[in-house]
Amino acid sequence: MSVRVRFAPSPTGYLHVGGARTALYNYLYARRRGGTFILRIEDTDAARSTPESLAAILDGLRWLGLNWDEGPEAGGTHGPYFQSQRGEHYHAHAGTLRGAGRAYPCYCTAAELEARREAQLARGEPPRYDGRCRGLDEAARARLAAEGRTAALRFALPGPGETAWEDIVRGRVSFRNEVLDDFVVIRSDGLPTYNYACVVDDHAMEITDVVRGDDHISNTPRQLLLYQALGWTLPRFAHVPMILGDDGSRLSKRHGAASVAAYRELGFLPEALVNFLALLGWSFDGQRELFSLAELEQVFLLERVGSNPAVFNLEKLEWMNGQHLKRLSEDERVRRVEAFLASRGYDLSARPPEWRAALVRAIGDRLKTLADAERYGVFALRDRLEVDPEAWAELRAKPEVGPRLATLGERLAADAEFSLASLERVTRRLAEELGIKAGELMSAARVALTGRRVAPGLFEVMALLGRERAVSRLRGAAARWAGESPHARV
Ligand code: GLU
Repeated sequence: MSVRVRFAPSPTGYLHVGGARTALYNYLYARRRGGTFILRIEDTDAARSTPESLAAILDGLRWLGLNWDEGPEAGGTHGPYFQSQRGEHYHAHAGTLRGAGRAYPCYCTAAELEARREAQLARGEPPRYDGRCRGLDEAARARLAAEGRTAALRFALPGPGETAWEDIVRGRVSFRNEVLDDFVVIRSDGLPTYNYACVVDDHAMEITDVVRGDDHISNTPRQLLLYQALGWTLPRFAHVPMILGDDGSRLSKRHGAASVAAYRELGFLPEALVNFLALLGWSFDGQRELFSLAELEQVFLLERVGSNPAVFNLEKLEWMNGQHLKRLSEDERVRRVEAFLASRGYDLSARPPEWRAALVRAIGDRLKTLADAERYGVFALRDRLEVDPEAWAELRAKPEVGPRLATLGERLAADAEFSLASLERVTRRLAEELGIKAGELMSAARVALTGRRVAPGLFEVMALLGRERAVSRLRGAAARWAGESPHARV
């Protein structure tokens, strides 16, 4: 039978990088085996599910390139792919469970359950449903219903014993049935619980392998018992370890960015995030680290996913992003930078293509994320210059700098060629005439032109600014220096 796997997010928030990694592993597993990757939306919690969250999940998956074969917008033969539209399936099988004596109506109210839970905790017992409604006869049920109570449906747990499975990632996992209780399958409002809806859908969608985060591991025995009670074939299970922040706790917003969208906004490439997430828990041969999605599709093996939690290392992601940026063709790199800068409000469409390419080239190896294009290119992207106060204070304190910058401005104004070569010639000649090191003049000019000490090469900076902006910034810096410097002669 061909492999069918699913990613089953609840649309109640952003697409967490942990969720994205689960989606990726499912996707890769399906691709490697020529199987089907299904997207199922677990939106039975109407109060918490939002269209914005759904859109964020779909966008995030698409941006990463994890295209699903069946699911929302893709369609498929096993739909609908929204749990909110699958009510009849849940009710039909609930009838089967009841008919077989494997489920029973429970009339306990939330307040009663809570009071008993507290009493159990007070006695030092683990809180679990006490089975009170399990043995009710029809007359007792009718009496409770007549009191206006609405029933939930509870699963009737089999007797003591062990529920176990062979997990693809974790090996054999087993739970004593005694630690479970008669859990709810259909709530009193008619909605299915996660464990139950998940089993009904995984069965209906012919899921062969359930690959998900190991935060679900304690749900799995309940799900196995449901499969058994319904007489259904079990899928295989793979529980992948959580992603941790650098303090060892589960990665969350507290650690910085935790959503796919946030990494996109920070200027990471989908190629790099995919590569990075693939290696959080999986390794190819312990050596090779750079993979494209297409390459991962060829080599990924779920069996090689480790069971230890993986720590999210931002520096590694940044390194990887730099590597993936280098792998792109120059045209593609420029296109990505342009699209990123557009999302940050910079419209480069009026600039000639050579200018855009020159900007990216000038930033060179400093481009680790697309955001570096803004960080290092902002001097050319905006007409208004922001000056780093420390860099300015240093400039202001130096003697002679103002007049030198003014002269450099005049020389640039007169440089007909205005090419990288001519700009270098003009600048070096001036330094020689002034009897100072070229580096000294250049670092002052860098602050005057970019507002910072660290910036792309000076002649690239001049060329990117163009004559008018470069000259006016040099003049402006000279005038400001004259007004502020303790060395300025009045
Ligand atoms: N909706 C569940 C979640 O988002 C799905 C878990 C599963 O894959 O079974 O965690």
